[in-house]
Amino acid sequence: MTAGRRRVSIFGATGSIGQNTIDLIARDPDAYEVIALTGGANVAQLARDARRLNARLAVTADDTRLEDLRAALAGSGVEAAAGRAALIEAASRPADWVMSAIVGAAGLEPGLRALEQGATLALANKESMVCAGALMLRTARAHDATILPVDSEHSAVFQALIGEDIAAVERVIITASGGAFRDWPLEDLARATPAQAATHPNWAMGQRITIDSASMFNKALELIETKEFFGLDPVRIETVVHPESMIHALVGFTDGALMAHVGPPDMRHAIGFALHHPYRKPLPVERLDLVKLGQLTFRAPCETRWPALRLAREVMAAGGLMGAVFNAAKERALDAFIEGRIPFTRMAGVVEEVLSRLSSQAGHNAAGITLDMVSQADHLARGEADRSILG
Ligand code: NAD
Ligand code: MG
Repeated sequence: MTAGRRRVSIFGATGSIGQNTIDLIARDPDAYEVIALTGGANVAQLARDARRLNARLAVTADDTRLEDLRAALAGSGVEAAAGRAALIEAASRPADWVMSAIVGAAGLEPGLRALEQGATLALANKESMVCAGALMLRTARAHDATILPVDSEHSAVFQALIGEDIAAVERVIITASGGAFRDWPLEDLARATPAQAATHPNWAMGQRITIDSASMFNKALELIETKEFFGLDPVRIETVVHPESMIHALVGFTDGALMAHVGPPDMRHAIGFALHHPYRKPLPVERLDLVKLGQLTFRAPCETRWPALRLAREVMAAGGLMGAVFNAAKERALDAFIEGRIPFTRMAGVVEEVLSRLSSQAGHNAAGITLDMVSQADHLARGEADRSILG
């Protein structure tokens, strides 16, 4: 880290995590020098934040929006750029701390580029670990870079492990709210609409992760993320439905102790933890009143309601490039559900078919996996998913 102001970049700045990150940074503008902000089609928001934070560069991933972005930034001194190559170039610019908050596999390469220049990568983009966990960790090691988890469950596990020996971990329990359809009768799920799936009982998040919470594909990704990030045997990773979303994860040790991370469902905690690590600084999150809360409840996850959890187990057992296959198939199935082309309950079927057709992708040694191989597996899986969706 350089002396004085910390150089920060935010990938996916216009999204839910990006906006929460900006909320924290904007509270202490003198502490940060904003190198790059990136977004998608919402160039008005991107330009507003780039002006407000006095960013050096703003990039829209949508290359049809360059002129709009330029116009919105006119006279500000903020450089404007557009398209995938510009996004990758922005990720290569030296920064001390980079927020990876693009949604989907599109966030993988920018994160790798940030690691290559030695940055601390605050990783909200769980898809990076699911698609290419070993590659992410290897890249960080090679460039003396750091990856800090921002997913609330993984931040919770990370915090519970501070000062502990990973060999003394017996199990990790990741909690799940259960999403929008937790209490729906099973027979109604086939008729669930994207608008219904996109309402979360506890968290305000982007549309895609909210729907993934209803299907538990989000929890499925998080189980794989836990295995990859902490190097845990999948048999040690459990999930439990916890409707209140106050406990984010628990770590059980060999002496029977179970350490829980408790806090309100506000992503600014996990983002702020990663921003200030290794220090703890005051954060603008609600302080829990346990008496008011009264009780916390837990239920076993039902694999009939949430087949994605079973698929995650299969993916973890298979290894190789199956995480990339799983994620890409899920992204296409989710697109098809959002577009009204398949019912909610068909998403898991599509993903399962792709996993079985591309089972040969399991036969890769994690240590030899490259970005090209991940991209290739991702591409194949999208094609297979589209076949399943049409069939
Ligand atoms: P979002 O949809 O609100 O925002 C996504 C951001 O990525 C936007 O800035 C968008 O413009 C950009 N983007 C989308 N597609 C892109 C592409 N192809 N290329 C470049 N940029 C693109 O999503 P979100 O809810 O903020 O989630 C972001 C990431 O963080 C996801 O990986 C999600 O799983 C993870 N995450 C989110 C939360 C949450 O509370 N929202 C919690 C934990 C983890
Ligand atoms: Mg999470």
